Amino acid sequence: MTRDARSIWFNEASARIGLSDETQLALRFALKPYRLAQIYRGATKELARDVEALTTLPKELRASLTASGFALGCVEPVTIQRSRDGQTSKGLFRLRDGNEVEAVLMEHREERTTVCISSQAGCAFACRFCSTGQAGYTRNLVASEIFDQARFFALELAARGKRVTNIVFMGMGEPFHNYENVMGAVALLNDPHGFGLGHRHITISTVGMVNRIDAFADEHLQVNLAISLHAPTDAIRATIMPVNRRYPLAQLLAACERYVEKTHRKVFFEYVMLAGVNDSDESARALARIMTGHLYHVNLIPYNATPDGPFQGSSKERIWIFAKILDEAGVPTTVRHSMGSDIAAACGQLRAQTQPKAARRGA
Ligand code: SAH
Repeated sequence: MTRDARSIWFNEASARIGLSDETQLALRFALKPYRLAQIYRGATKELARDVEALTTLPKELRASLTASGFALGCVEPVTIQRSRDGQTSKGLFRLRDGNEVEAVLMEHREERTTVCISSQAGCAFACRFCSTGQAGYTRNLVASEIFDQARFFALELAARGKRVTNIVFMGMGEPFHNYENVMGAVALLNDPHGFGLGHRHITISTVGMVNRIDAFADEHLQVNLAISLHAPTDAIRATIMPVNRRYPLAQLLAACERYVEKTHRKVFFEYVMLAGVNDSDESARALARIMTGHLYHVNLIPYNATPDGPFQGSSKERIWIFAKILDEAGVPTTVRHSMGSDIAAACGQLRAQTQPKAARRGA
């Protein structure tokens, strides 16, 4: 299925000022096709801060668009925190209905910059080690609410002569639980006439919704797929991830095999290292036994402990031994470099500090 990024963008921007779509917007402001193209390009490619910055438009048009509430972006930064080493910036963003989501910018050495974005306010999957999961689900974001988190950091970077090189859907929410809007956001990120980020530079991380892994394989996009595995057996996985009851490991791994068969693309398995839960030698060996696919890659993630949670991260040494067992069994393994722990940069942690739990659910 092909998705037209430009109409997605215009339809959502129009809906926010009470118009049904791009056609109605064009009628209401007497916008010729080339004007619409200027607005879209300004918002998504040239990264204009606001309508006033679209200097290709006549002054009166800018004024009437602004007066109607028409805007180029739909997320407002509430706070931006920078880690001490300056490599990680974490943003808390307010949506127009008052809900808040987080996104994180990571500036790696060389020119690589990654933005981690949210796809939902809250999350319905209740993974026990995750702050977002513990807070519950509020609502899906629409495509431009997801895209605008990337746009925000792209604008910041542009001021310093840099650009966004990678996007990961590893912020708040389950991307495959908001499938169509996430695919719309991917279209917006990728559009060569707009933001222009290659599919290979985008990664979607899922808790393991089997039906959507199949749908995603059928899209035949070059977008990377990451699976939050976190345990090598159903017994362990079910205690930390309730989703395992609906989609047990055998079903999840079968879906990953079908995905590889269809797309010939790698699957990344995320494995957050929790002391005494999933980090024993026996767990490592059990994991090696199920990581049989030739395009499988394991990412071991140091746990960012949440203040009120019951879990502790595994020690560096434990992670190293665990990685070594996988490595010796021939499983491609990397240990993820942890960034921004001094600013609570793990999923859902910043919002947990500013929004009390009850307020988050209601909306
Ligand atoms: N719902 C999706 C994407 C959001 S979470 C998913 O489950 O994949 C992105 C990744 O961060 C997941 O692998 C998640 O398990 C992990 N994660 C969540 N909280 C974490 C924490 N406190 N420390 C380290 N990783 C965490």
